[in-house]
Amino acid sequence: MNKPPPSAEAASNFIRNIIDKDLAAGKNEGRVATRFPPEPNGYLHIGHAKSICLNFGIAADYNGTCNLRFDDTNPEKESVEYMESIKKDVEWLGYQWHEEERFASDYFQQLYDFAVELIKSGHAYVDSSSAEEMREMRGSLKEPGVESPFRNRSVEENLALFEAMKNGDHDDGAHVLRAKIDMASGNINMRDPALYRIRKVHHFRTGDAWSIYPMYDYTHCMSDAIENITHSLCTLEFEDHRPLYDWVLDTLATASHPQQIEFARLSLEYTVLSKRRLIQLVQENHVDGWDDPRMPTISGMRRRGFTPASIREFCSAIGITKKDAWIEMAMLETCVRDDLNTRSERRLAVLDPIKVVITDFEDTTATTLDFANHPQNEAMGRRDISFSPELYIERDDFAEDPPPKFQRLVPGGEVRLRGSYVIKCEEVIKDADGRVTELRVTHDRHTLGKKPEGRKVKGVIHWVDAASSVDAEIRLYEPLFSVPDPASAETVASVINAESKTVMRGCKVEQALANAAPEERFQFERIGYFVTDSADHSRATPVFNRTLTLRDTWK
Ligand code: ATP
Ligand code: MG
Repeated sequence: MNKPPPSAEAASNFIRNIIDKDLAAGKNEGRVATRFPPEPNGYLHIGHAKSICLNFGIAADYNGTCNLRFDDTNPEKESVEYMESIKKDVEWLGYQWHEEERFASDYFQQLYDFAVELIKSGHAYVDSSSAEEMREMRGSLKEPGVESPFRNRSVEENLALFEAMKNGDHDDGAHVLRAKIDMASGNINMRDPALYRIRKVHHFRTGDAWSIYPMYDYTHCMSDAIENITHSLCTLEFEDHRPLYDWVLDTLATASHPQQIEFARLSLEYTVLSKRRLIQLVQENHVDGWDDPRMPTISGMRRRGFTPASIREFCSAIGITKKDAWIEMAMLETCVRDDLNTRSERRLAVLDPIKVVITDFEDTTATTLDFANHPQNEAMGRRDISFSPELYIERDDFAEDPPPKFQRLVPGGEVRLRGSYVIKCEEVIKDADGRVTELRVTHDRHTLGKKPEGRKVKGVIHWVDAASSVDAEIRLYEPLFSVPDPASAETVASVINAESKTVMRGCKVEQALANAAPEERFQFERIGYFVTDSADHSRATPVFNRTLTLRDTWK
């Protein structure tokens, strides 16, 4: 599929229009301050990349700032490992946050003090109803809610109870602190939402200091205000929460009142973008960890060989809108291919080798051939490739019984070895099972860099020299899921593509590849884009991951 043109949308989306107007009106003293607020409860995925590129991109373009703030208010699910992975991934994408990273947990004391203020001004109360009772009293989209019998507790009683909750005097679920807003509101988020709940659990940063933790809706707007954020960009599902965001800040009359603006989240075909499901893939061992090259995580795409520039380009190409839409995987892959095409050096590698012996090669010692590292970019240099009468070619570049229009090697036929001679297949050697083990060929010694005389040879195939090539393991990846919307399936297991990973051993790669550094990217000529595996590749056992095939296979 074709990539859309670098969209005007990306360069100037509706959020940028709002910011332009704000700046023109002199709002926020001309400042632009955004933030990226991940919860450290999983690894970042390509959906987060959309939000990262938006927030950091706007900060960069408006000479503003973008904070990295961990929304760490659910201690049961959060960890240092997740926090560290998020920092690493944001940096890898090419962004640097303003000052030190921040944590909602840094504000726990301030948030507590503000909650006490809400109680004192009659805007919050402690509810001792059970979770079940609260659910029943909440009402529905059609029915208004019912006021809790605890709604009119005195300020003194509320203060004493809230302090006791904080001190750990009550068990989980015994009480919650709720905002006192409007149980009849048409917006369920405004029906006295919970602000704090009791959770006697260890927090990875604050340890056992707190027995109560603030809820997302209360924490988020207050953290934005504390950090003096100007534009708080979030996904559309928070649109209905915006009245609450504004209510908290208005009621507390905070010095700063950031503007929440919602945009459509990324939905990508043939994958899942929810941490809950990604965790399931990892925990149920459907993949080899968070950075499995089939995962839509930033770390998975990195291990797969995607570049930060291609992910940024993708985020720019899809643009920012107010409308949810599915994006085809082909679009992401096109961005990756375009970038890899210009930056990857070419190499020769044979995935499934058969031996070829040139029987009439006079010089039995190896010679060298001169190859360009990139067909369009001389600046990427050249290299010597050794050539000797024993070579390997790809098994499927030979056919005894060729299909129509097969332009590669056949018995008695000729083909050009890429950058080398034209050879002719004289003899096919097989094992007891009839499997081809070797081809005996002759070569036309006048065809090095020249056309053969008196005939046309159309096919060109790749090869490696047997003596100097190196054994490698090559891992081929296909989409992890077999359906476009795996999240709608009964179980993820039922829609996993059983063929999503193939490990090939005994592949033959040209010598230069053995010395490749971890995470070095190449194009294997005629095969695809590959990257050395960041964990398993070494000089002794080269391991390459296939990033993508050369052409789009989605059509
Ligand atoms: P998930 O649904 O995967 O659990 P989340 O929204 O709970 O994601 P957070 O860590 O809270 O994960 O997300 C941090 C930021 O990234 C939020 O501002 C969120 O809106 C944004 N974000 C998450 N998923 C997407 C997505 N698919 N597209 C765009 N932005 C996203
Ligand atoms: Mg979230």
